[in-house]
Amino acid sequence: MSDTVKSVECFALTIPRDTPYLGSPRDGEGANARGYIVRKGNKTVYPTFDRSVLVRIETVGGVVGWGETYGLVSPGAVGEIIGDLLADFTIGRDPTDPSAIYDDLYDLMRVRGYIGGFFVDALAAIDIALWDIAGRIAKKTLADLLGGRVHDKIPAYVSGLPEKTLEDRVSLAQAWQAKGFNAFKFALPVADGGAIAETRALREGLGPDARIAADMHWRETADEALDIIRGMAPHGLWFAEAPVRTEDFAGLARVCRDSKVPIAVGEEWRTPYDFLNRIDRCDIAILQPEMGHKGVTNFTRIAQLGKERGLPVIPHATIGAGIFLAASIQASSALPNVPMHEYQHSVFEPNRHLLKGNMSCRAGAYTPPSGIGLGVGPSDEALGLLEPLKPTG
Ligand code: MG
Repeated sequence: MSDTVKSVECFALTIPRDTPYLGSPRDGEGANARGYIVRKGNKTVYPTFDRSVLVRIETVGGVVGWGETYGLVSPGAVGEIIGDLLADFTIGRDPTDPSAIYDDLYDLMRVRGYIGGFFVDALAAIDIALWDIAGRIAKKTLADLLGGRVHDKIPAYVSGLPEKTLEDRVSLAQAWQAKGFNAFKFALPVADGGAIAETRALREGLGPDARIAADMHWRETADEALDIIRGMAPHGLWFAEAPVRTEDFAGLARVCRDSKVPIAVGEEWRTPYDFLNRIDRCDIAILQPEMGHKGVTNFTRIAQLGKERGLPVIPHATIGAGIFLAASIQASSALPNVPMHEYQHSVFEPNRHLLKGNMSCRAGAYTPPSGIGLGVGPSDEALGLLEPLKPTG
């Protein structure tokens, strides 16, 4: 009899930040009592600290795996879903078949329409922890479990330039260029002088060979997005990301059809169904799955979908301790259609001490962790910061 899952525990991990994600608050962007600010540029709420939800799964045989998902706001929602519902349906299962467990857990709530959001984030955290365990039992890296490494390093693009002035943002990009990175993405909501000025200044500062992408943050109608993209295009745009609201399938289809700049999307979608429904209707150029929303099971299924359709996958990277990032880097190293990965330098480097394992991002590329499973886990310091999320009642 193979090993079985004995326990599933869930924690919030809160990490202080000197400067909030996306940079210092602008006028009128004060934090509320919970430490949340709303960015005027994209009307989206962010914590003034970093926070994610970690899941620790242990088997009867004593193997421990870690998973991670979003916990930016309301981490207790994920904790409740796991503690009240998913944990008991995971305990007793064979951890060496995470995809089967994923599908069974997903099926539990399908008919009620729980096919995204916090529910699927909770599934992702459990899934990542189970893949970690499966690797540790097999004494293989996650990449080896997924068929073996096809990239020793994953090229990385520098994402976000959290400085207050355009001059300082260009200087920050140049500093990263001097460290061996030559691909960059800026965020339109904090490009105070507008999209064209930002693209032009970065192009002038970084030279003709640098790749420059724009994250448009789901703000525009199709017509508005196309106008902005046309304005940026003469300065050489690598891709335009999230040009219209996530609900606007028809708008996305139009932008994909009429934009001469490649369109990249997908960080906020959860399942292969979300991707398939858009890919079938929109001429998307680049898929951007986020491991923290998808888990290893869906991430690899989405990458496979991309491969079948001839689409590159450039995975998203987000705010957290780095466990989901390690899963993303491990999986990416085994996927031939992943030419590059996002690098959130303002999250990864300050939080690196919270992670055990040898994952790094230097001179323009990630080196995947070499250890078995995910190859990383929370450091002793991170373990000391964990706050248990238990089911209520
Ligand atoms: Mg984005």
